[in-house]
Amino acid sequence: MPDRSGRLLLKISGEVLMGGEPFGIDVPTMNRIAAEVGETTRTGVKLALVIGGGNLLRGVTAAAQGMHRVTGDYMGMLATVMNALAFDSALKANGVDSRVQSAIPMPSICESYSRDSALRHMAKGRVVIFAAGTGSPFFTTDTAAALRAAEIGCDGLLKGTSVDGVYSADPKEQPAARRYDRLTYGDILTQDLKIMDLTAITLARNSGIPVIVFSIRTPGALLGVVKNQGRFTVIGA
Ligand code: UDP
Repeated sequence: MPDRSGRLLLKISGEVLMGGEPFGIDVPTMNRIAAEVGETTRTGVKLALVIGGGNLLRGVTAAAQGMHRVTGDYMGMLATVMNALAFDSALKANGVDSRVQSAIPMPSICESYSRDSALRHMAKGRVVIFAAGTGSPFFTTDTAAALRAAEIGCDGLLKGTSVDGVYSADPKEQPAARRYDRLTYGDILTQDLKIMDLTAITLARNSGIPVIVFSIRTPGALLGVVKNQGRFTVIGA
């Protein structure tokens, strides 16, 4: 079982921030998650965050509508910056000291990504939100999360999604789908279990970072994962 008491990277998909809405940010949902992040950091865990942008824009969707894929991806990365700024504000409102660092420099809005300064912030108990993904098109924020987790030496990558773990098939479409408590990186790669893109899983595997998939829609689940309680899937060696 991985040590979840040290430095952890929490990836939140943009979709989760929509709450029950079809688009954008549902403020009560965001505030609830921000309060839970605060509660978790008060246990002594050092948290860094990556937030997706799928609630606002995805490059592949924009490309399907005729936009150049690269332009769409840059817009997707800007969407993650908007989510990061909103979440940063929600964290501060909950008494959590936090900083946003963007992979694409935008100095009048937030800090630029720097490993050293991110580590210094975390040592001071601040939550760092890594925005703008990897800064490059054709990647996802899952990959950005695995990359930053490797760079800052995280003990685990917590993937907060809408489901309480990895299933053999989409449980919404196939109610008989099997839920796994534990899988290997190889299982995800060979069985094409669609929980994370393969670049992200490969990066996590190469860095030996366990990935824990859980439902951040379930109140209290984040703290549960850190205390090794509740329902989640651990992906490891
Ligand atoms: N994106 C990108 N490079 C990255 C990370 C993200 O181009 O390193 C773009 C891509 O268009 C993606 C969008 O930003 O669709 C939003 O990120 P993602 O789809 O990962 O968000 P999530 O599904 O987690 O909400």
